[in-house]
Amino acid sequence: MTKYVYTFGNGAAEGKADMKNLLGGKGANLAEMNLIGVPVPPGFTITTDVCTLYNKLGRDYVVELIKADVEAAIAQVEAQTGGKFGDSTNPLLVSVRSGARASMPGMMDTILNLGLNDTVVEGMAKKTGNPRFVWDSYRRFVQMYGDVVLDMKPTSKTDIDPFEEILEEVKHEKGVINDNELSVDALKELVTKFKAAVKAKTGHDFPESSYEQLWGAVCAVFNSWMNDRAIYYRQLNQIPEEWGTAVNVQAMVFGNMGLTSGTGVCFSRDAGTGENLFNGEYLINAQGEDVVAGIRTPQQITKEGSIRWAALAGVSEADRAAKYPSLEEAMPEMYQALFNIQKNLEKHYKDMQDMEFTIQEGKMWMLQTRSGKRTGAAMVQIAIDMLKEGLIDEKTALLRVEPNKLDELLHPVFDKKAIKAARVLAKGLPASPGAATGQIVFFADEATEWVAEGKKVVLVRIETSPEDLRGMTVAQGILTARGGMTSHAAVVARGMGKCCVSGAGSLQIDYKARTMVVDGKTFKEGDFISLNGTTGEVYDGKIATIDPELSGYFGELMEIAEKYTRMSVRTNADTPKDAQIARNFGAKGIGLTRTEHMFFEGDRIKAMREMILADDVAGREKALEKLLPMQRSDFEGIFEAMAGYGVTIRLLDPPLHEFVPHEEANQKEMAAEMGISVEQVKHKVESLHEFNPMLGHRGCRLGITYPEITAMQARAIIEAAMNLKAKGIDARPEIMVPLVGTVAELKNQTEIIRSVAEKVFAEKGDRIDYLVGTMIEIPRAALTADHIAAEADFFSFGTNDLTQMTLGYSRDDAGKFLPDYLNRGILKQDPFQVLDQNGVGLLVEIGVNRGRQTKPDLKVGICGEHGGEPSSVEFCDKVGMNYVSCSPYRVPIARLAAAQANIKHSK
Ligand code: ADP
Ligand code: MG
Ligand code: MG
Repeated sequence: MTKYVYTFGNGAAEGKADMKNLLGGKGANLAEMNLIGVPVPPGFTITTDVCTLYNKLGRDYVVELIKADVEAAIAQVEAQTGGKFGDSTNPLLVSVRSGARASMPGMMDTILNLGLNDTVVEGMAKKTGNPRFVWDSYRRFVQMYGDVVLDMKPTSKTDIDPFEEILEEVKHEKGVINDNELSVDALKELVTKFKAAVKAKTGHDFPESSYEQLWGAVCAVFNSWMNDRAIYYRQLNQIPEEWGTAVNVQAMVFGNMGLTSGTGVCFSRDAGTGENLFNGEYLINAQGEDVVAGIRTPQQITKEGSIRWAALAGVSEADRAAKYPSLEEAMPEMYQALFNIQKNLEKHYKDMQDMEFTIQEGKMWMLQTRSGKRTGAAMVQIAIDMLKEGLIDEKTALLRVEPNKLDELLHPVFDKKAIKAARVLAKGLPASPGAATGQIVFFADEATEWVAEGKKVVLVRIETSPEDLRGMTVAQGILTARGGMTSHAAVVARGMGKCCVSGAGSLQIDYKARTMVVDGKTFKEGDFISLNGTTGEVYDGKIATIDPELSGYFGELMEIAEKYTRMSVRTNADTPKDAQIARNFGAKGIGLTRTEHMFFEGDRIKAMREMILADDVAGREKALEKLLPMQRSDFEGIFEAMAGYGVTIRLLDPPLHEFVPHEEANQKEMAAEMGISVEQVKHKVESLHEFNPMLGHRGCRLGITYPEITAMQARAIIEAAMNLKAKGIDARPEIMVPLVGTVAELKNQTEIIRSVAEKVFAEKGDRIDYLVGTMIEIPRAALTADHIAAEADFFSFGTNDLTQMTLGYSRDDAGKFLPDYLNRGILKQDPFQVLDQNGVGLLVEIGVNRGRQTKPDLKVGICGEHGGEPSSVEFCDKVGMNYVSCSPYRVPIARLAAAQANIKHSK
């Protein structure tokens, strides 16, 4: 027979901590706390299975199914507490609390003081001799029950909450400010009015029967699993609907019985900084959520915390001690009890705990414990501290840190106080984390000019193109109205570690008028805005930022990660500066250098355009000759920055139309510069036009039709490496041919590259080692990898294009439907951010395996955006890649993810 109800109390429990799937997090930990001797009011948990049955078969079925078990469990709680459920002389009151497997803060509801009715309230007032407390509990109960079970809560923002309205009215009438100043008579009046409101809205009397109340509450918790808030939260956090919620029914303890009672929340360490500092807040004579509800100013648990708080809040020491004493000062014995319990819990769970407690007339009760949520910095510090304290081992410490959270440590951040006061204008995609504040500019060249004048700018574009690169480099941040997480703006910004919000669809940008209209306000060039690249929020005006601190803890974590990693981590970098940043973060080599950006700087674009305009090989070669020395010196810089490690350089990849101007004014400029007619320029631009440039004349197709381009680039690479060798610097070039679909394409290119290399060797009378490989980014290449491997020294999976071509989603246009797909659950994740393991991943796996059939020691890596995404990195480890490559600022994330993957896979 299936067990549906698990009891706990008096140091015993039928459940335990590792039963979260069945009992929910709250229920499992309530059981566990009992087992380790922590004082917890007795109660029982109705399992998540019952929730599933409830959703399938309905209320009557479920009540019938568990009625006897629930009544037996209530009887056990009665025996343990000495109270009686529904009895007027010696009543037992309970709370009914939701609790899913994963914590869903604020998504579902809790009802306190259940079991009170008009007769119980009188009996209880007599028994306790504390009518104020009893009536306070009653009015809370009627309000909570009304809201949660009887649907009294207003559904729209404009509706008024009837209970809040009545409460305000009565407080006003009695001339009191705080709820806890209400007299017994005022509280009685509240209850009467609340009940009348219930009757008026629902047509029914407020239920008097305790069991009717109980079933109403239990079913309301089950219902709350399917409310809009909960559904949305589950979507956001990828929590499956099948999980369901458990229901906890627990004897009440009362923090509102007077001045020796109270309630609060506390943390065993600082969740913001990670400091090993017990902290929290409490209120005297209060119940449940009062501390977080913000009705009264909560007090600090520790004296030290209280003094810190007073300094921030501008409260004098005398006032602090008199009006807001810490628990440590106000109730030293209770403080000591709580201190010991939290130490004990942390030691038991071996993790930072977030706890709820209630003090009833000088007795401490724990109501909840769970692993506390924390910032990235706190996550790192707590893991390392606990390792040093001997609480956890190295592998556990590594697994404790969410790789993505390291991001917070690597970028400038907004000052917390300043951000609270700021106005949010729009929300886009959090394309590249960090914080940026600056003056709006709409054009890249203006960005450069303004910055030269000492201004700080945010580049605002409908979308960006390679032409905007310079402007992007100097801007504080980049904001675009169009484009997804792998749009040009997003990819480039991440590469630079620059804050970027992309695809903020509500922006109306007018390049002509140089204005941006958003949230009803018109912004002109020069106006200040701020971006949070971590959340995608766009703010009005300036917001102060602070630099992140790469603390010693971070370095220690990375050192430990290094010990447990099999794959190495490379970086995607186009400049020596980026390569150096990545190297400082621990990158061992470059997985992708894109050469196209090198053609935009200074005179280069001119030479590039000359090459494009040329009608014959001779003309193109002449122009390429000008580019050769520039490319060579670029490569020298990069090789030097990555000396001793492999550097993969991709040959020219984008379609040529990206290098010619599309606006009339720029075309005129170009014509003048080149000494040709505007018509000639226009004609060329038109001839380069393609309907589907991503599937057009690009990648190795360029190198095949214009072999002189490949030859020039190969020569620049080999010469650069040899120049460095002459200086005693260890350069290790790996030349990568892009967009290969058939082995014949690759063969065509490798022959050119190898023959150029031989020529250079002959000229210089020396040789170096170099590799020639290919990017696997066309499905056909993955499928025929056994053939392709015959011509390749290495594979690098270009999963951006591979995703685009496997799913058939244009990565520059997917923003139009991807959000819809995600909302409707058609896709679980954006495949451009998180590798689609079942589809694209299958091609990757086939590619790796077939490639290694031909060459068992084929070097394999990934250089798409996925190379820095933890779940994708885990996948790369599983299929046996040698390395992952990602943008410089994601290197630490990938290093940690790689270590975690190896720990998991070698278990
Ligand atoms: P949430 O998951 O939203 O925190 P909880 O179920 O933990 O909801 O309950 C809300 C508040 O009520 C918390 O402050 C909790 O400590 C308090 N509470 C819950 N059950 C009891 C109880 N049996 N006695 C006293 N306070 C309780
Ligand atoms: Mg809680
Ligand atoms: Mg590509």
